[in-house]
Amino acid sequence: MISVEERYNQLEATIKEYLPAADTERIRAAFEFARKAHGNQLRKDGSEFVTHPLAAAEIVAEIGMDDDSICAALLHDCIEDTDATFEDIENLFGSDVAGIVEGVTKLTRVTYTSAEEEQMENFRKMLFAMAQDIRVILIKLADRLHNTRTMEYVEPEKQREKALETMEMYAPIAHRLGMQRLKWELEDLSIRYLDPAACTEILEGLKQRHVEDEAFLESIRNRLSERLSEYGISCQITGRIKHLYSIYRKMFSENLLLSEILDLHAFRIIVSDIADCYNVLGHIHELYRPIPGCFNDYIGTPKPNMYQSLHTNVIGNDGIPFEVQIRTWDMHHTAEYGIAAHWKYKEGKSGKVADEEKFAWVRRLLETQQDSDAQEFMQALKVDMFADEVFVFTPRGDVVNLPIGSTPIDFAYSIHSEVGNTMTGAMVNSRMVPYTHVLNNGDIVKILTSNASKGPNRNWLDIVKSPEARNKIRLWFKKEKREENVIHGKLSFESALRHADISIEEATQYEMFMKVLARLSFGNSEEMYAAIGYGGITATKVIHSIQEELRHVAKIKRTDDEIVDKTKKIAKKKREPHGITVEGSENCLIKFARCCSPIPGDPIIGFITKGFGVSVHRQDCHNYLESQNEPESEQGRWVRVFWEKTDNNLYSTVIDVQVIDRVGIVVDVASVLNSLNVIITSFNARVESGEDTHMTIVVEVNNRDELVSAMAKIMTVQGVTDVRRADG
Ligand code: MN
Repeated sequence: MISVEERYNQLEATIKEYLPAADTERIRAAFEFARKAHGNQLRKDGSEFVTHPLAAAEIVAEIGMDDDSICAALLHDCIEDTDATFEDIENLFGSDVAGIVEGVTKLTRVTYTSAEEEQMENFRKMLFAMAQDIRVILIKLADRLHNTRTMEYVEPEKQREKALETMEMYAPIAHRLGMQRLKWELEDLSIRYLDPAACTEILEGLKQRHVEDEAFLESIRNRLSERLSEYGISCQITGRIKHLYSIYRKMFSENLLLSEILDLHAFRIIVSDIADCYNVLGHIHELYRPIPGCFNDYIGTPKPNMYQSLHTNVIGNDGIPFEVQIRTWDMHHTAEYGIAAHWKYKEGKSGKVADEEKFAWVRRLLETQQDSDAQEFMQALKVDMFADEVFVFTPRGDVVNLPIGSTPIDFAYSIHSEVGNTMTGAMVNSRMVPYTHVLNNGDIVKILTSNASKGPNRNWLDIVKSPEARNKIRLWFKKEKREENVIHGKLSFESALRHADISIEEATQYEMFMKVLARLSFGNSEEMYAAIGYGGITATKVIHSIQEELRHVAKIKRTDDEIVDKTKKIAKKKREPHGITVEGSENCLIKFARCCSPIPGDPIIGFITKGFGVSVHRQDCHNYLESQNEPESEQGRWVRVFWEKTDNNLYSTVIDVQVIDRVGIVVDVASVLNSLNVIITSFNARVESGEDTHMTIVVEVNNRDELVSAMAKIMTVQGVTDVRRADG
């Protein structure tokens, strides 16, 4: 075992190699700081604790990251596990390093409890959202990799738990960031804890055929190498057995024995330029028979995580298939280290990279990705750049996903309506907070409830951010507080009216108001007030409807019939029997002549029709007057009739009105009749010439006096030039 000191020196040498300008004094200071801070803490395997951050820093250096990252890796457990504070680290190593360490600490505090796929996806997103700097994720991955490598000293139950978490959380993240090497190692290590029996079987099997496999790899490698050097292509060729987890997956997904898996062998050829990639491919296809449909050009179409290579599957001379990956060194770096590789190139060229530039690159990467995975990758990464969601925890560790800016009230309602409705307080990260407290990623939120709670407060509607919470609060007010809603709603309504400069009388004119209610689907005004009260509709919206209706009434000229319909409905009186006595006969059928429409008070005369009883005319009806010239025999059909004394009978008659047209005159005439409770059953207006207009109004009245006063009133309307009874 080499000493901690020696290991550190090796690390420094590695960094110097890829980052000659690295500030090794600062890195050493970080190492010493961590070593001192962790003091005599020990790892589970008994080694000095600082070996862990040191190992994490080694991984970070292997990835090729900047010196801030190295320092942060060395310090990554200081805030969590020692007395050191954010401020200490900030003072000594700058805010970047302190920020990264703090980010890693936050991620460390997150624990995963649910293995549901949706929850996992939320968790992954959350990690990105929480890690504002992508370096936080990379260091967290390095931390996890070292912990996984050294997991044999951990209790078995913890092993399984951590391995599962690695498999479900960290390996997919490494994959998305294109860090294949890390991903494979995490998977290969974890699967041993998750399915030890199967892994032992695979490893034993591989051990037994080891010699054979090596010989096969060797022979193919030699043949390839000979051929390529013959053609002057300089390259590196490696052959290997596929990864444990990839074999495991294949055996279990296709239900195969190890001996039944044919393509266990894989070769990688790394060349200096893209042209050589295709050259090499040509040679391989000449040497070995390609398996149809097994060629992929990820150079032309890179994978969403930036992976580029040519893949081909061919069959060796002895019938054993194998895979070949061909790529340039650049591509190889990207394949192994993904996002970190790119980060490193930038760093090497131009020193410190501005955040914006880093993100610009990620954005470009995302924009150029076309295939279906790209969308998923985009979503995963986008949360840390275009965040519109916040991820918080229940005390049980479930992740709840809310719109950014959400409060404990939003959280409570997202758990359950009842939790929101009985909420009496909230704790975030074990501290009491006000209801207006804005939640942050990773917060653990606990809602205090009580059955004695008075329920939500109306001002919560202004506090909450999620539509879900808003709807649930409204629903509560709708159900629980009807009376209060009505009062509250009426007040809001009246205040909004004042605001709109409409008088209450004007707004609540019976018919117009009824129409507004109907249009807004309310049965009566109380229902509407209640709805305003609980927030189901805004007072402003109601006022808009009223304004619209008022405007509508004002230009009703072309919709006479509507007025008629409305006015028709008022003061509905019951139609009684006809109220006519015919001289010399009882119970005979009576009808009122349409030509002159007599009403009580009119002098009348009856005409015995053929088969239709007695038709009653006014004595001044032209039909009656004209009949005087007819033969005696016909005259005998006229009989005397009398009005009975009745109060309630309604009689239909017709008024002719001559007007000079103007805007609103129809409304005015109708309103006059309306105000006298005269029922209009028909209302027609037609322009005769220029502005001269003739109105024919059919009304129902009790008697002549009523009619006369109605006519007198119509005469007072501005623009009316003549009013008379229609004489048939
Ligand atoms: Mn750690």
